[in-house]
Amino acid sequence: MKLSRYLYDSLDMLGIAACEYDECMNAMGWNSTFLQFFPEDDGEIFVGESYRDNLRRFYSGRLSPEEMPEIERYIAEGVARHENQTQPFEFKHHGRRLRASSLRAPDGGRVRLWQWLDNERHAGSSPAFALPIIDALPFIPDGATILDASDRIIAANDAFARLYDLPRGHTVVGRTLDEIIAWCWRDASPAGAWRAAIRNGLRYDGAPFEIELPGQRWLRVIARHSADGVGFFTHADITSAKRQQMELLEAQEALRQANAALAELAETDGLTGLANRRRFVTGLAEAVALAQPLALMMIDVDHFKTINDRFGHLVGDACLKAIADVVARQVSSATALVARIGGEEFGILFGGMRIEAAYQIAVAIRTALARAPWRALHPNLADVTVSIGLCADEGPLDGTRLHACADEALYAAKRNGRDRIEILDLPQMPLQIAG
Ligand code: GH3
Ligand code: MG
Ligand code: MG
Repeated sequence: MKLSRYLYDSLDMLGIAACEYDECMNAMGWNSTFLQFFPEDDGEIFVGESYRDNLRRFYSGRLSPEEMPEIERYIAEGVARHENQTQPFEFKHHGRRLRASSLRAPDGGRVRLWQWLDNERHAGSSPAFALPIIDALPFIPDGATILDASDRIIAANDAFARLYDLPRGHTVVGRTLDEIIAWCWRDASPAGAWRAAIRNGLRYDGAPFEIELPGQRWLRVIARHSADGVGFFTHADITSAKRQQMELLEAQEALRQANAALAELAETDGLTGLANRRRFVTGLAEAVALAQPLALMMIDVDHFKTINDRFGHLVGDACLKAIADVVARQVSSATALVARIGGEEFGILFGGMRIEAAYQIAVAIRTALARAPWRALHPNLADVTVSIGLCADEGPLDGTRLHACADEALYAAKRNGRDRIEILDLPQMPLQIAG
């Protein structure tokens, strides 16, 4: 959605400020009344600016130095107001009383409109009109309070006293909401910065804000002020909704962690803890696409079947784990990917590495395996050797061909007597491998 210039100009004529945001809450357009109402945006706002950045400028301009530490909270509350607003609310800015409205557009964006209220006359605005409302307070199911222009409570209903756990006879009239909540928190240190919540909430007439009470209880307060400052506040218990919301967030976080663990597990070899074949295949596809040297090493244990046959599968398993540890220890490069890609076969990708360096690592692996304490696995297990095939080239290259080439080098090592390293240049690799 993009409002036309014509519409922006029409709203200017009515003295209504407009600013449009896309579904990601980035500013898309505004009219000149907007810049009059929010002079701090003049020359600063730009298409694509996030609402969060816009709010940061707004609050930087209006918060007092002692309130500045609360700026992140205020911004978060402002974003929540922006996302959830269904009813207009009012606030004071640069000495003007503004009413703000915004509705979600079908495409997920929002148009915010601000109207100057100072010239408006409010029916019911004088304290005299508050009197019939006072008579109606007992019939209001939510907590309800009426406050005078200096924010002191003139009247409250019983529901209000119940919500704030005020004992019978506790003085309410003449108190501020601040004082009532401070009384609620008299025995506990407030977990939430409720004073900041009230201070910020009261700036936006008609916009709900939340207050935390001891015992993990939450109230939602909506304040409305008449032009001459009489306040009408409603207070509703939202504890169960809030707890559900928090449980939902916790459950979502647990689910996210479980998914991440599952994703990790799906790419890990259970026996050795190395990457598995699936991870190796995606790693190879990613690595061959890059314009850099790439070496691939294939390692296959020699006569492993005999080890299994002689010492049993458990020793065979322990043997595979020991080989995996030795290989992983010799491969220190952070860009390398060490994987178990088959029963007793390992594949190692060396991103950014040339053949000479990869060969040195292959030599180091053979040396380390020759020194490994095999007898600790079985007294008669004298040594375990491997055959290694190596292939390297400059990326980007064909992954299947590189894989086949390293395999071919490994077969050559087997053919030539095992317990050795063979290198095959990719260009020497026959295009058709005889089956
Ligand atoms: P070569 O030198 O030609 O590679 O001979 P080899 O015996 O190592 O090769 P072959 O492919 O004939 O045998 C591999 C053996 O590895 C067969 C299989 O039972 C064993 N193996 C595969 N996966 C595992 C495993 O997870 N644990 C154990 N203990 N053995 C396994
Ligand atoms: Mg094998
Ligand atoms: Mg083998």
